[in-house]
Amino acid sequence: MLLFENIVVGPIHSRRLGTSLGVNVLPTQKKYCSFNCVYCECGWNEIDTSVQVKFNSKEDIHNALEKYFTSTPKQDIQKIDSITFSGNGEPTLHPDILEIVKDVISFRDTYAKRAKVTILTNSTNIVRDDVFQALNLIDNPILKLDAGTEEMYKRINKPVSCTLSQIKSSLIKFGNKAIIQTMLLRGIDNGKLIDNTTEEEFSAWLKIVKEINPREVMLYTIDRETPDKDLEKLSLKELEPYANKVKALGIKVKTY
Ligand code: SF4
Repeated sequence: MLLFENIVVGPIHSRRLGTSLGVNVLPTQKKYCSFNCVYCECGWNEIDTSVQVKFNSKEDIHNALEKYFTSTPKQDIQKIDSITFSGNGEPTLHPDILEIVKDVISFRDTYAKRAKVTILTNSTNIVRDDVFQALNLIDNPILKLDAGTEEMYKRINKPVSCTLSQIKSSLIKFGNKAIIQTMLLRGIDNGKLIDNTTEEEFSAWLKIVKEINPREVMLYTIDRETPDKDLEKLSLKELEPYANKVKALGIKVKTY
């Protein structure tokens, strides 16, 4: 299980984002998410809900970023390609996410002009006005869509409450600014088949992608240890035919 212990993390090298400075707005002691994905590198959600979740406050986040940018040599800051909201769960669950996004953009404009601001989100909260606005301000809003049918969505992402149909409507509304990220995987979870690569499942997913018409799709495969041990890592070569189907729609696609 991989948990971030600080608010500012890295920079680290990311497969997709280059040199990435992480901003974890979520609790540093536990994962907090509206999904419980079978492949989550933070591990399964804690069943014990009696522990009160305490977000990092917007003031603490501001102070941590200020400390980082004022104490790090300029030449190191210039190497940052992305300031990335990620970390121990779903960042848009933070009640002050819009103000925090504006603050991070302001730090970027002052100290790290060439860096893009990126968020990795599971798409469950775009229905909130403030989250919709926040995602619109961000250079790279990377939005998760792992399945095209409600059943496979439930098996892969194990949502707390949100349906695929709700996510689909929000993503279509968000439209062409979206970067869609999709983990392709196969395996077994609790005796049930996990597979979003079959003809039927992939076609259903592709149909939604066509409706969203995102500016880019990222297809990726398992990289780190997963809580479900019966999952198969696809090779980059295996991702290619799926990428070609996205390309055929005239949508830019990358594989990782
Ligand atoms: S959305 Fe991300 S943080 Fe949440 S369970 Fe899935 S992989 Fe983990």
